[in-house]
Amino acid sequence: MSRFEVDQVLRDKRAWIEEQRRRQVPRLGLAGLAVSESAARIAARELISTLAEEEAERLGVAYRRIRIGGQRTLWGSCSPGGTLSFNWRLVLAPAEVLDYVVVHELCHLRVPNHSRRFWELVEWRRPHWREQRDWLRRHGPELLAFRASE
Ligand SMILES: [Zn+2]
Repeated sequence: MSRFEVDQVLRDKRAWIEEQRRRQVPRLGLAGLAVSESAARIAARELISTLAEEEAERLGVAYRRIRIGGQRTLWGSCSPGGTLSFNWRLVLAPAEVLDYVVVHELCHLRVPNHSRRFWELVEWRRPHWREQRDWLRRHGPELLAFRASE
């Protein structure tokens, strides 16, 4: 093969590989999933409360209460009064992702902004937090758009 032909083959192959990769982009496959929102909210509250209790102690922070919401734009928030809010759809995400969001909001009880000090705190508690953030970036919109069947 001439250099030109080799380049041609590589170019074709690369296009093919990229096409395969595009097809393999993982999808959450939530479309056909039947989920009861009330059951999901109960599960979310249980999981999140257990995690939050444990983590709050390690971080040396105290929250007032946990609220489970259905915001379409938000995974979690932390009010100045110490109320932590979480989206019930987090129970449909991998466990590490839910865990990361809980730890993230608890860290806000110590540092209320996203300063370097905040991220250092998150990193101390969850060294692999970036993987969970990336998951949320990739799949978050699909999960936030999810509607329960009842
Ligand atoms: Zn934050």
